[in-house]
Amino acid sequence: MKDSVYRAPKGTRDLVWPDSERRRSFIDLFAGIVSRAGYAEIVPPMFEHIEVFQRLGDGTDVVRKEMYDFEDKGGRNIALRPEQTASIVRAYAEHRPSLPWKVWYAGPNFRYERAQKGRFRQFDQVGVEALGTDDPHLDVEVIAIAWRFYEALGLRQVNLLLNSVGTSQDRTRYIEALSGYLEKRKDDLSTEAQETLVSNPLRVLDSKRNEDIGVVSEAPSILEHLSDDANSHFNRVQEGLEKLKIPYSVEPNLVRGLDYYVQTTFEFTTESIDAAQDAIGGGGRYDGLAAEMGAPATPGVGFALGLDRTLMACEAEKTFIGPEQLLQIYVVDTTGGENSLVITDQLRQNGFKVDRSFGDRSMKAQMKAADKSGAKIALIIGEDEVEKGVVTIRDLRGEEGQEEIASDSIIANLEKRLG
Ligand code: AMP
Repeated sequence: MKDSVYRAPKGTRDLVWPDSERRRSFIDLFAGIVSRAGYAEIVPPMFEHIEVFQRLGDGTDVVRKEMYDFEDKGGRNIALRPEQTASIVRAYAEHRPSLPWKVWYAGPNFRYERAQKGRFRQFDQVGVEALGTDDPHLDVEVIAIAWRFYEALGLRQVNLLLNSVGTSQDRTRYIEALSGYLEKRKDDLSTEAQETLVSNPLRVLDSKRNEDIGVVSEAPSILEHLSDDANSHFNRVQEGLEKLKIPYSVEPNLVRGLDYYVQTTFEFTTESIDAAQDAIGGGGRYDGLAAEMGAPATPGVGFALGLDRTLMACEAEKTFIGPEQLLQIYVVDTTGGENSLVITDQLRQNGFKVDRSFGDRSMKAQMKAADKSGAKIALIIGEDEVEKGVVTIRDLRGEEGQEEIASDSIIANLEKRLG
């Protein structure tokens, strides 16, 4: 069915208050945590030359089926970013900053997916990328940052799944072994998995279809195909997580959707939302990606957390609840509006969240608006008050009633009341 023109397109939505403020607080909390670990913000463009993303692997759904791509008016092939790691590594290749290069980002990505609960066509991610060393402690740092962020949000039902897909040679050897096995069991696989087997055998391991589960559970494990180097890297990552007391489980079928991963891959799932959308974040190492984009070979590791889905998990766990109110104070002025104009400005300069009534409205109408605004306090200015040099402060939500305050002690009084 065609989308109605004056509705947000399928798979997108408008975030209005309080959800919009919750999104911003989420990003602020994240920014605080990552900046304490030396990550600086990067804001890459929302679209790139399509080749930047085709590097992610032609066999991945993200690139094959879901990309918003188009030819621009200058004849360039452009794609809206489906994720940000590729953009950031492109930025690295372009600017060649000194190493280590640690950056964080927040912003929307675009994928033409089947829209459903927790799966959007425009969705936000926050994430980090760290380039310049293959030290497994950097993998641990990156995972720990995500973990501490979930903790700071108050989430308690998050699981960390960890795997290693080995070096690119290990991965190639494993794909051969896996393809051989899956070819033999092809007739037992679902039609979808048979198609995936042709385009990207690793992704068959991701299948959640009942027909495929048996075949997948007996498949050869990547962990049996790791070289000594990959094994020792993986062990160091696990030891590091144990030192930090971050619980994890090793999940050999965790190959993740993007082809650039080597060595460590990880995913965060939540028990609090539907199994189909339970992935709230993930990441891994991509040591070969920078060289593919024309930079000197530079190892890197990072993660992306889905903001929309993580906030769904917060709702389910009743944590990181949105703001309660937009306003603290509502100014009611029945003397023509000049008093309200000045005092509203003064209060805002002093850090209060304040709004006022506009238009020449009756006391009753203004009080109604004050109540509807959600503000805790109405500050009332009438002819009486002006004559006496006071304002009336009325508690709109609690038990404190109202009192007259001398005009020159308004700020002090409000500070006491609102903290
Ligand atoms: P990915 O970039 O595919 O590794 O995804 C990382 C995280 O982004 C996932 O764990 C999800 O939380 C989130 N995510 C990915 N795709 C979508 C989508 N279409 N809608 C909402 N969140 C998404």
